[in-house]
Amino acid sequence: MNNKKKEKRSFSIKAHIFSTILGLTAVMLTVLWVLQGVFLNSIFKLSKESDIRRATNLIADNIESEDISSLISQVAVEYDLCVKVYGMQQGSDLYDEHILNDCILHKLADEKRLFNSWYEKALENNGEYTETIPRDALRDYVYDEEDFEGDVPTVDGTPDCVLSMRILTDSEGNAYLLILNASVVPMKSTIRTIRLILVLFTAVIVLISVLISYLMSRQLSAPIQKITKSAGELKNGDYNVRFDEDGPTEVIELAKTLNVTAVELENADRIQKELIANISHDLRTPLTMISGYSEFMRDFPSEITPENFQVIIDETARLNSLVNDLLDVSKLQSGTQSISIQKISLTKTIESTVARYSSLTSHTEYKISFIHEGEVFVMADETRLLQVVYNLINNAINYTGEDKTVTVRQDVLDDVVRISIIDTGEGISEENLPLIWDRYYKVDKVHKRAILGTGLGLSIVKNILLLHNSRFGVSSEPGKGSTFWFEFKIV
Ligand code: ADP
Repeated sequence: MNNKKKEKRSFSIKAHIFSTILGLTAVMLTVLWVLQGVFLNSIFKLSKESDIRRATNLIADNIESEDISSLISQVAVEYDLCVKVYGMQQGSDLYDEHILNDCILHKLADEKRLFNSWYEKALENNGEYTETIPRDALRDYVYDEEDFEGDVPTVDGTPDCVLSMRILTDSEGNAYLLILNASVVPMKSTIRTIRLILVLFTAVIVLISVLISYLMSRQLSAPIQKITKSAGELKNGDYNVRFDEDGPTEVIELAKTLNVTAVELENADRIQKELIANISHDLRTPLTMISGYSEFMRDFPSEITPENFQVIIDETARLNSLVNDLLDVSKLQSGTQSISIQKISLTKTIESTVARYSSLTSHTEYKISFIHEGEVFVMADETRLLQVVYNLINNAINYTGEDKTVTVRQDVLDDVVRISIIDTGEGISEENLPLIWDRYYKVDKVHKRAILGTGLGLSIVKNILLLHNSRFGVSSEPGKGSTFWFEFKIV
């Protein structure tokens, strides 16, 4: 079996833009060339027919004008036609302008016979008659076959043409036949000119599209290359690097996202360093106490007292809780922590937690009260819920104000119970409110607590409440204290 992964072909932006724009240009030019090859004759014919109509109207409208002869010359030159005005009564030409090289009018074998038959046809057709004569049929008009012995010569070079006739009558009732002859196939020179223009046009368009591709790809790839360079620096651990927010919208968005990422990485790095410093500090304090007291008791056996042992036991408990917190956070955040949900009495859980602080409240001025009405049951993991309440009360004790009061409230609203832990401390500023739930985040970096904290408490609270799909939050006003709350559905 071939396990080799198929390598995806990758293109540079430059190659992509070049191939797309040049491809598009090639398609457009091909269409243009095909169109001119296929439709040139029809377009030329249409425009010529309209020219003939215009010229006929102009001459017909001015037939009695004194300048008619010079008007006819002008019209013939302008529209590239031959004109004859044939007097039906006189049986001769009144005006005659010969412009076209291969004009059929000026090669007619039997003018009178044809003019009379055209006049008849025009009469039957409201005074107008138009005939398009294909190349093959020309000789029938041009030469009288009876004049020739043997083959009738072909009329080379005479293109397809249109004969347009109109019967005109002057004020004295004299009838004239106005006949115009024009070629409706473009001259070879015209075709050559159009081709030359097309070749030049093609060259200019190709040049322009190469230029546009070059400029566009430079405009697009330059900011991405800059971002790639900065990302390389970020990868090498330079979190101070910032991404240029310049270029197309998508690139600006990318740069913005990367800038936020860089700031977050910088914060995470800083927090990580602070955490190591904090943890080492927090670990060192109890360890120093433990080793200090142990050595002290070893050297002075008279000091082996229950009080001194208690210090060692307390400090060991602190170490234990610190290590447990760290383990909890890493388990909760890595998603390896599962919870076992069962029906528990939320009221009892809080009561027992508050009771644990009895030694603190009886030996110090701290006042912790639990206000509730009735007992409420919820679906939760009891151990984890205890951790939440414990962490929130610990924080409230740590940060409460001079009156050293902490209030826990249980409020029932319909089928929801809300637990609030209220303190009277300095509160939390609005900018810090969303950040305090982050791992290792501490508003005040100085340790001045009644109970030791690790900066992990609220992160543990948040992760446990998220596992329970529980709503939670904090409201706080600097100087007035904070209220941390969470909600559970009552069962
Ligand atoms: P810590 O161990 O530092 O208390 P937490 O995660 O429990 O860590 O809290 C994070 C930060 O949130 C604290 O350092 C503190 O700045 C702020 N904080 C938490 N609870 C309160 C409170 N009740 N009053 C004021 N600030 C608080």
